[in-house]
Amino acid sequence: MTFANGRPYLAIPGPSVMPDRVLRAMHRGAPNIYTGDLIEMTRGLIPDLKAVARTAGEVAIYIGNGHAAWEAALANVLSPGDTVLVLGTGRFCHGWGEMAEGLGVSVETLDFGDRAAIGLDRVEEVLAADRDGRIKAVLAVFVDTSSSVKNDIAGVRAVLDRLGHPALFMVDCIASLGCDRFEMDAWGADVMVAACQKGLMTPPGMSFVWFTARAAVARETARCVTRYWDWKPRVEADEYWRYFDGTAPTHHLYGLRAALDMIAEEGLPAIWARHEGLARAIWAALDAWAQGGPLRPNIADPALRSHAVTSVEAGSPNGLALQDWCRDRAGLTLGIGLGRTPADAFFRIGHMGHVNAHMVLGALAVIDAGLKALAIPHGRGALEAASQVIADRAATTASP
Ligand SMILES: *Cc1c(COP(=O)(O)O)cnc(C)c1O
Repeated sequence: MTFANGRPYLAIPGPSVMPDRVLRAMHRGAPNIYTGDLIEMTRGLIPDLKAVARTAGEVAIYIGNGHAAWEAALANVLSPGDTVLVLGTGRFCHGWGEMAEGLGVSVETLDFGDRAAIGLDRVEEVLAADRDGRIKAVLAVFVDTSSSVKNDIAGVRAVLDRLGHPALFMVDCIASLGCDRFEMDAWGADVMVAACQKGLMTPPGMSFVWFTARAAVARETARCVTRYWDWKPRVEADEYWRYFDGTAPTHHLYGLRAALDMIAEEGLPAIWARHEGLARAIWAALDAWAQGGPLRPNIADPALRSHAVTSVEAGSPNGLALQDWCRDRAGLTLGIGLGRTPADAFFRIGHMGHVNAHMVLGALAVIDAGLKALAIPHGRGALEAASQVIADRAATTASP
């Protein structure tokens, strides 16, 4: 029999759970795009988007997913024949590099594999050897969604500064913005990209490129930029249609407005603390399961783990079997072993955005039931350990 009937839960790393408030904000007829509320509302999104990224720089909005923001960011600062350095820690940074290749940019990759974070020593070696400044930009992913590693962004900036290397520093925060603490200005990113369907809790279809004055200077000589991806008219928008180079993504804007209101009401520090507590509950369960079977967190060091997504190695084909069981028997959809070999040895838990303790504890209990049903060996006490984390954190955190 199945226990899947009831409200399904999509615990994947994007699209994330959409709050009813966001969905209700979108449930309306077509608005006036010439005058009225929509125009003012769009202007009001800009300072709030900058606040979420912790930057005093600019932000351009694109109708497109994260891949669109990848291309937009690259096109505005690079020219064909330029070289970029990709710091690979999972599928996504390599994907961004492939996007650069498509623009005629040469890509050099430092690959740290899919179980480790960026090694700053190796970054320093490569940049120090680049005496004539051939490397025009360094590309890093803050949280790589495939490996669930969290990289030291301020650390990479410190290497660039120590060497006085002029490369722009470009960071992908698509999986992590509004989940893991990120400080664009304080940590020294020149360009940052994110999309709306993960920590920002809005249906897929919008993405953003934030950039500093330094990146704006690079835009003046970049030859990859094309009319549509040009961020300049979007941030200087003197007429409404220029924000999006055409019709506005009207309903997404209403949804995003509601999501940014929710973020402002909870406050970023409280949001970061909630994500950390939920992540630690998941890790506590994983530690218990790992005591008596094949389950392991993909990233061994908790300090290098994302608070938004957790990749779990479960042995082949247990990863896939668990995904199937949880979905078909209990209404819980887990993330696939994206970019991993063999893919059926892995699963991922998305815990980003509109997620609370009962959702995460419920997901862990379903996984625990799946392990039992599928006779996958596992240590006991995972739910006990997870609920203890939530109880302890709820008691000690200052907010309510
Ligand atoms: C989801 C994701 C992307 C890709 O975003 P799409 O909206 O699927 O194009 C890129 N980078 C990271 C880190 C992601 O999590």
